[in-house]
Amino acid sequence: MTRYVETVVDQHHIPARDHDLHPSKVGLLDHEERVARDLEMLGYPAANWPAEVRSPEGEPVTDVVVVGAGMNGIAAAAALIFKGVRNVRVLDRNPAGREGPWLSFARMDTLRSPKSLPGPALGVPSLTFRAWYEAAFGKDAWEDLYKIPNAVWVGYLTWLQRVLSLPVEHKTVVREIAPAAGLLRIEIETQRGLDTRLARRVVLATGRGGAGGDRIPEFADRALWPDLAAHTNEAIDFVRLRGKSIAILGGGASAWDNAATALEQGAARVDMYVRRRTLPQINKGRGSASPGYFYGWGSLDDAERWSLFVYLNDAQAPPPHETVRRAMHQKGFNIHLGKPVEAAARTGQRVLVHILGEDIPREHDFLIVGTGFHVDAAAIPELGAWSRSVARWRDRYAPPGNLQRPDLGDFPYLGPGFELIERNPGQHPELSQIHLVNHGAALSHGAIASDIPGVNIAAERLATAIVSSLFREDLKAIRHNLEQYDEPELEGTPFFVRAVPRD
Ligand SMILES: Cc1cc2nc3c(=O)[nH]c(=O)nc-3n(C[C@H](O)[C@H](O)[C@H](O)COP(=O)(O)OP(=O)(O)OC[C@H]3O[C@@H](n4cnc5c(N)ncnc54)[C@H](O)[C@@H]3O)c2cc1C
Repeated sequence: MTRYVETVVDQHHIPARDHDLHPSKVGLLDHEERVARDLEMLGYPAANWPAEVRSPEGEPVTDVVVVGAGMNGIAAAAALIFKGVRNVRVLDRNPAGREGPWLSFARMDTLRSPKSLPGPALGVPSLTFRAWYEAAFGKDAWEDLYKIPNAVWVGYLTWLQRVLSLPVEHKTVVREIAPAAGLLRIEIETQRGLDTRLARRVVLATGRGGAGGDRIPEFADRALWPDLAAHTNEAIDFVRLRGKSIAILGGGASAWDNAATALEQGAARVDMYVRRRTLPQINKGRGSASPGYFYGWGSLDDAERWSLFVYLNDAQAPPPHETVRRAMHQKGFNIHLGKPVEAAARTGQRVLVHILGEDIPREHDFLIVGTGFHVDAAAIPELGAWSRSVARWRDRYAPPGNLQRPDLGDFPYLGPGFELIERNPGQHPELSQIHLVNHGAALSHGAIASDIPGVNIAAERLATAIVSSLFREDLKAIRHNLEQYDEPELEGTPFFVRAVPRD
């Protein structure tokens, strides 16, 4: 039995956040040989085939820069490299092992999804989470595992980066992407300072908030930040909140995770304010996690995609039952259902929370806003003002009255390979060289570019699209190479001739 064992679903204790990882080095070494053999048998990675491109000034150009070395960035880079697009760089602002939300603002102990999902394995059995876990911790441990502890998931993703030799540059922030004579100029910041890269394509695998950032309701006064309020997505010093009274806005999974974390860390009480009278009961996202949705969504017309997305979005997902139990188990937890907050403001060093229909505001020491992420094609941070030229759903589709959802109109309207589309045709064609593989793609492509179940399908679709477009772009050079290709097949046979006469 390992430390990660969870055999009983109906229990309160879930292992602590900071697990020690003690994988079997021998098991992993053997396993890595298996990975190498699997890749060899599949012919991965193919030899590099795109043309070498330089800028007019002679600077080197990267074929594809992937921004983000989380799960989707790893899958995108690996899928491209497997297909012979090997001039790829992956840039991530975080240090190695700290990519994504898992060890920062994902304040749950285990992943919410089941352990059985393959992970970003791209169809290679030895790259699946299960294969890695069994090699690292043993088959019994796999049988005993209930859900995947966050730190274990990070261990797996880190291993994938290493075993696939992905060209990841950590502590590298992409500040800005701009068009540059048919290429993309990428302004980056590293510990050495500012620098520029040129690329033919950019993949934005920038995570859940990467297409618009945190959603903070208008009624939450910005003057509460930073000392009296935080979004669940921000760093929160829970030690400072010991003995304090915390208000939490929202009843989704992250709101519950933050409630539990605050109480576990010593908060005196947590009051969770939820607009709904009952929590959502059914996770429709899980009910639609099937190859039909994943592969078929993109073939639907705009009206069908919009209608389905509105249905899924309106339903909202319930928090996982483990998360609910974890918070309820703590002393000091209070939930207020059917209590919409209409204002949250500062009074000195306290937070006043005004509930609709109540005359007297409630007082707290700190506010945690658990209202999720915003998607707005015009607010993709790396594109700056350029992002206002990106086509949104509202530019391409007008839903009927009962299906109007203003927020959803801001989603980017993506092409079949996740490429951005220019709002006004002919103005910014270079936008199509940028592919958005994060939650912002959900309306155009279904739920394949964020959560674990769709990661392989998204990576495959993305890589295939980039391969096709590079091939088209490089056709002249590729044709030239073909004409130069002269490996003799019949040498050593009586039919070998050095120069073939024209028939
Ligand atoms: C709290 C939480 C819990 C979740 N739990 C689950 C779950 O249990 N199961 C599930 O299937 N899904 C879950 N998800 C959804 C999804 O799986 C995760 O969001 C996952 O991290 C998505 O992977 P990603 O590669 O798209 O993004 P991320 O893992 O967020 O990686 C994006 C990376 O991009 C980097 N980055 C962003 N902008 C820049 C920039 N400008 N320059 C350089 N680097 C940049 C970031 O540093 C980050 O490392 C959860 C999401 C959240 C927020």
